[in-house]
Amino acid sequence: MERFDVVIVGGAAIGSAAAYFLAAAPDFTGSVLVLEKDFSYERCATARSAASIRHQFSTPENVRMSQYGTQFIRDIGLHLGVDGDAPDVAFHEAGYLFLATAPGRAVLEANHRIQRELGVDVALLGRDELKARFPWLEVGDLSAGSLGLSGEGWLDAYGLMRAFRRKAIALGVTYRQAEVVAVERDGHRARGVTLADGSRIACAVVINAAGTGARALARSAGIALPVESRKRCVFYFTSPAALPGCPLVIDASGAYFRPEGAGFICGISPPVDQDPECFDFEVTHDLFDEVLWPTLAARVPQFEAARVLNAWAGHYDVNTLDHNVILGAHPDVENLLFANGFSGHGLQHSPAVGRALSELVTGSGYRTLDLSRFGWARVLAGRPLREVNVV
Ligand SMILES: Cc1cc2nc3c(=O)[nH]c(=O)nc-3n(C[C@H](O)[C@H](O)[C@H](O)COP(=O)(O)OP(=O)(O)OC[C@H]3O[C@@H](n4cnc5c(N)ncnc54)[C@H](O)[C@@H]3O)c2cc1C
Repeated sequence: MERFDVVIVGGAAIGSAAAYFLAAAPDFTGSVLVLEKDFSYERCATARSAASIRHQFSTPENVRMSQYGTQFIRDIGLHLGVDGDAPDVAFHEAGYLFLATAPGRAVLEANHRIQRELGVDVALLGRDELKARFPWLEVGDLSAGSLGLSGEGWLDAYGLMRAFRRKAIALGVTYRQAEVVAVERDGHRARGVTLADGSRIACAVVINAAGTGARALARSAGIALPVESRKRCVFYFTSPAALPGCPLVIDASGAYFRPEGAGFICGISPPVDQDPECFDFEVTHDLFDEVLWPTLAARVPQFEAARVLNAWAGHYDVNTLDHNVILGAHPDVENLLFANGFSGHGLQHSPAVGRALSELVTGSGYRTLDLSRFGWARVLAGRPLREVNVV
């Protein structure tokens, strides 16, 4: 039977980041195989993402992971250049602006305190300051806004994933287009994987980086992973609006928009009770006409003349317990590592998670950033580590 030291299931942002960090680790000399069922990457969350990075989280580890992500992206040429060719992921460091009405102000302030303690470059702005800085914003109903002054913005998500992949391959990682149908177990250890064509591959470590496919993979190894696939639609629209210095704006309603090329993209997560598990890619067009357009035009009156040119649907891998990643081995299977349940913020955390996975494979624990609170213990104990800033 064919054998590799590490098999990674899923070769998009997380799988490719893990592959890169492992291959680049000075203390790792093993072989790595990435099994990806669709080399077009057409439907993975990475390719359908809003591709943005923020430091404004409520969970300190998420802040730290994003801080590392920003640094990694700024220095991407140093990390992921191949033969002198440095990738360009078009990082626009234009910030996030979270808006709050009076009832949301306390949460904004609590998050602000956590973020400032962690050195986030963020400013809490009152209504008048918001108006002075962003004259195009309607602020009458607002109480405050939290603006990232550096480190936050957006990039080419597909480009980041390709750059990880290309560098991993240059460092000796093998990529193969194949669907994994099962993780094979031998007691408390995974001994390999079975592919859809019936062939089997043995390995010392399996990494589950299968996004919304992660739960099925976990189930094949007898593990219940609390991750569901939830649809999110993104709309690209043009508008005559000129919004100088426009950051990624998260309205008090939860709707977001940001510049994209000559226009803007926007979206909104549905209320929890209208957010069923879902695997189709049908765009919910009514969402723009009935929810987003009126909401955004109330916030930015110039958006009254918005015109949708394109729209797509993708899926969050939502951790239904607490909206935070489940990272590391399950106590029942010591060599099956999970990196799932990103709940809409996995792209920006791919550098930190890739590094963390490589540390788990090569040593006995985290060496740079302690992410142990994201492990299975809280899941199995039913003790959520809740991230409240979910977009
Ligand atoms: C609309 C939308 C907007 C988003 N916006 C942001 C954002 O602004 N910022 C941010 O940080 N994150 C954002 N996200 C989330 C982010 O895209 C994901 O968290 C991240 O891309 C997850 O990467 P992944 O590699 O884990 O999963 P994916 O990108 O979904 O990749 C999983 C891969 O595994 C493969 N696979 C699955 N099952 C198998 C199997 N059995 N065998 C072989 N291969 C398999 C799939 O084909 C796929 O390529 C957004 C997501 C969506 C949908």
